[in-house]
Amino acid sequence: MGGHEPTYFLRARYIRAVEELGGIPLILPLVADPSARRRLLDHVDGLLLTGSGPDLPPNLYGERQRYKFPLVSERRASFELELVLQARIRDLPLLGICGGMQTVNVACGGSLYQDIPAQVPGALDHRQKAKAVHVAHPVTVSPKSLLNKVVARRTLMVNSSHHQSVKTVAPPLKVSAMAPDGIIEAIESPAHRFLLAIQWHPEFLFERHAVHRRLFEALLQAARRTRS
Ligand code: MN
Repeated sequence: MGGHEPTYFLRARYIRAVEELGGIPLILPLVADPSARRRLLDHVDGLLLTGSGPDLPPNLYGERQRYKFPLVSERRASFELELVLQARIRDLPLLGICGGMQTVNVACGGSLYQDIPAQVPGALDHRQKAKAVHVAHPVTVSPKSLLNKVVARRTLMVNSSHHQSVKTVAPPLKVSAMAPDGIIEAIESPAHRFLLAIQWHPEFLFERHAVHRRLFEALLQAARRTRS
């Protein structure tokens, strides 16, 4: 095995969700060359930007790092920011999950709370103790949003496994769901076919909850339209 060598890994749930709902998953390697990145994207019909353990480097949204949390590698951050930019240029369907939502917001010019417990007094505990297959708090879905169309609900229960969240919403994006404490739980781009990002983890919920399955189905539906 690789030991301390840099290693690619991805929780298989993401793959399973795409596969079981009729898509063909493809994991993209973090290539650095800009033209190689663009050519990789010629082979996909949509993007699922998965969550990550570490945080985005705060300098990417104009802040210094205030707390000592691990950061994602520069290579991953720059690759994923580029994916979001390309998705916007190509109107490629994109679903961002957890850290992926934070990347979408930063890529579009927004900022993040570096640590909810430290920076948002009175916030709920967004790091649930129960396993992620269990839901933890409700969110209210913005009327007439893409998310509202996808889930066909005004409120839903979500799991919660994040210590950061969107602070300033990037100007081209809109809030599409919010927790009762005001923490932003979903954002989307009104100017695109399907550019949606959520703070929770539907890959842990899709098997038991149709409403969370809908998120993947809607991404795949939009991706099929890219193809045709
Ligand atoms: Mn939450």
